[in-house]
Amino acid sequence: MSADAQPRSSPVPSIERLLQAAARRGLIESFGRNAVRSALRSVVEEWRVGFREGAAEPAEAHGLLAAAEHRLMAECEPQLRPVFNLTGTVLHTNLGRAPLPRAATDAVARVALGACNLEFDLEGGARGDRDAHVEEWLCRLTGAEAATLVNNNAAAVLLVLSTLARGKEVVVSRGELVEIGGSFRIPDIMRQAGAKLREVGTTNRTHAQDYEAALSPRTGLAMRVHPSNYRIEGFTALASDDAIAGICRLRGLPFVVDLGSGSLIDLERFGLPHERTPREAVAAGADLVTFSGDKLLGGPQAGLIVGRRDLVALLKRNPLKRALRCDKMTIAALGAVLPLFAYPERLSETLPALALLTCPERDIAALTARILPDVARALDGLATAAAITCCSQIGSGAFPTDLLPSAGLRLSPVRSRTAPGLSVQRLARALRQLPTPVIGRSEKRSVVLDMRCLADEETFIAQLPALRTLLTQETNPG
Ligand SMILES: *Cc1c(COP(=O)(O)O)cnc(C)c1O
Repeated sequence: MSADAQPRSSPVPSIERLLQAAARRGLIESFGRNAVRSALRSVVEEWRVGFREGAAEPAEAHGLLAAAEHRLMAECEPQLRPVFNLTGTVLHTNLGRAPLPRAATDAVARVALGACNLEFDLEGGARGDRDAHVEEWLCRLTGAEAATLVNNNAAAVLLVLSTLARGKEVVVSRGELVEIGGSFRIPDIMRQAGAKLREVGTTNRTHAQDYEAALSPRTGLAMRVHPSNYRIEGFTALASDDAIAGICRLRGLPFVVDLGSGSLIDLERFGLPHERTPREAVAAGADLVTFSGDKLLGGPQAGLIVGRRDLVALLKRNPLKRALRCDKMTIAALGAVLPLFAYPERLSETLPALALLTCPERDIAALTARILPDVARALDGLATAAAITCCSQIGSGAFPTDLLPSAGLRLSPVRSRTAPGLSVQRLARALRQLPTPVIGRSEKRSVVLDMRCLADEETFIAQLPALRTLLTQETNPG
C-alpha cells in the first residue's frame, strides 16, 4: 500500500501541553484559560484539516501557539473601527455620518470614564433632568421655547406621533411620504405609532386648502416631512409652513415639521445650498420640529425635538421617551458641539463636518497631487492611478441633487504578469482589507477615491506598501 492511500496523520501536541506552553508565554494571563483553550482547539482543528489535505506542515507547538495568539488578539480587536471614507458621500450613513470635533470626543471621554451629573442637579443636590444639559443651547439656536432629545430622528418622529396622534389621523402631503435609507418610511412609522395616515394633495401639488379640507375631529396633527433624498420638479406647488401652521392654529391642532437634516445655521454663508433651519421652521409657526444630530448639525447620533413647551412636556411624560432616551455620551458630545454654533464665523474650522463640506476643490486637488506618486508607485504594474476631478455629495438626504466639486484618484487595473486579470472588485477588496480600510466608489473599470474626506494623509500613505502586498500575494482573483 502506498503512503498516499492512507490518510495522513501526525502526532499533535496535546491541548494540555499546549496550555502549559501558553501559560509560559503569558497568554493565559492576558486572555484567560478558557479563551486560550478554545483558541488552541480551533487552531489544532484547522491544522488537522490542512494536514489531512496535505497542505499543512507537521505540527509543532511553537507554530500552533503563535497562531492561537494571533487569533486571540484578532478576536479582541473591536470589530467597529475607523475607515477612510473616500466614497465622495460626506455624511455617509453606513460609515457613521458626521465626524465629531475633538472637543466632543474629549467631553465623551470625560463622562464615560466615571460618574457624572447626568440626572443630578448640582445646585440643589436633587434629581435632575438629562435633557437640561443641552436644552438651553437648543432653544437659543432655534428660537424654540423648549427642547428634548432621543436616540435618533426616527425615534423623535415616533415619539411625537405616538404622543400626539395615537388613534388619530395625521395629515401629510402625498409628496412627502418619504423613505429614507430603506429603513425609515413615514407610513411605517405612522403605523408603529398607532396613528392613521391621512394623505392630502397629489405627489406634485398640495395646497393649503387640501390641509384645511382634511382636518376633522379625528385629526391628531398635521405634519410636514422634508423630502430629504429626492426632489419634485416641474409643475409643483407646496403650501407654505406659515399657511399650514395658520390653519392648524385655528383648529387648535399641532403642526409638526420633520426637517431631517436640520442645519442650525444658514449654509449659504459657506457657499452651500440653502437648507431649511429649525429656526426658520419655528419662526414659520411649527409647533414641534424634529431633526438629526449627526447629519448637517455635525454632532452625535441623536433626534432633537424643539418647539412649544406644553407639547415638549407631553413628550417627556410618554413612557416611550424613557425607552428612547439618549445616553450620557451622546449628551456630552452634543453639549460640546452646540456651543460651536454661537461663533458661526469659525464654524468651518471648528466643526469637522462643515470643514469637509466646505473644503475648496483646489485644496483637495493639491492633496491628490501630493499622494498620487506614492499611490502610483504602490500600484506599479497592477493598476494605473490618475488624478481626476469628481463630485462629492453631502449625503444623509441633504440636497440630493446638489454636488460639490471635488478631486480624487481613478485607479484602473491593468492586465499584467504579476496580477493576471486584476479586477476592479479585487482592487476594491484589497483596499478594504488594509489596516485602516479604504472605502472608495467602484465603477465599471476603475475604483474612484474621492479625496475630500481624507483626513489622515500620513496613515493613508503608510499603508500603501501593504496594499501592494495584498494585491501581489493573493493568488485567487476576487
Ligand atoms: C434622516 C431623516 C430621518 C431619520 O433620521 P435618523 O436620525 O437617521 O433616524 C427622518 N426624517 C427625515 C426627513 C430624514 O431626512
